[in-house]
Amino acid sequence: MRGRRLAPVVAVTVGLMLAVGLAASALTAEPGGAGAAPAAASHPASSAAATRPQIKKKLIPYPKKRKRDMAAYSKRHYGHYKWALNDPKLIVIHYAVAGSIGTIYNTFAPNRPDVEFHELPGVCSHFAVSAGGGIFKFVPTSVRCRHVVGLNHVSIGIEHVGFSDSDILNRPPQLNASLQLSQWLRCRFGIPIEGVIGHNESLSSPYYKELDPRFKGKTHGDFNHASMETYRAALAKLGAC
Ligand SMILES: [Zn+2]
Repeated sequence: MRGRRLAPVVAVTVGLMLAVGLAASALTAEPGGAGAAPAAASHPASSAAATRPQIKKKLIPYPKKRKRDMAAYSKRHYGHYKWALNDPKLIVIHYAVAGSIGTIYNTFAPNRPDVEFHELPGVCSHFAVSAGGGIFKFVPTSVRCRHVVGLNHVSIGIEHVGFSDSDILNRPPQLNASLQLSQWLRCRFGIPIEGVIGHNESLSSPYYKELDPRFKGKTHGDFNHASMETYRAALAKLGAC
């Protein structure tokens, strides 16, 4: 995505890129993340372990029709008709290739098919974190979102305003808010630190499942292993649950 950040089409298609792995560039490891500084993950251990951060509700429309579409997607890709997200096993970290929460919201709000596979439901994430550290809730964690091929049935998705891993890793207010959110969620659902993964790590997850051969093996470049090692190390500093 580097070098294309100002192209208007990027913002419009961001949600589609999240879920279907359509851009060749997205399949390339993001070089910006590997050497990124760990930024300010300086919260004291333990006390913040399970504290709920401030979360602003900005729910996207998720009516019955979208739930039926999500259930049908689950049937096609995971083998069962279900829209509810029960007992999530993973938290998946993304960046949105977008410069604002409003852009991300506007991409996720309409329930429209993706461009490559023309599938419903529309893509979404459960949360998004702004550059300044604001946390926004788009979808309840009891409902599945389409944000990562192969893992939508077991994961909570967190989007971030930004255009690269290092954008987020080098913005202390955003990184710290993201860590607080991940920590609260993982403690709430009993998810170990290794269960907090980057989108780019999706294929190596033991929970990965994809029945549709067109989708099999597809992932994106956002939050690669090196970046997530940085992220998880910072998360570990927040202490045990
Ligand atoms: Zn992603």
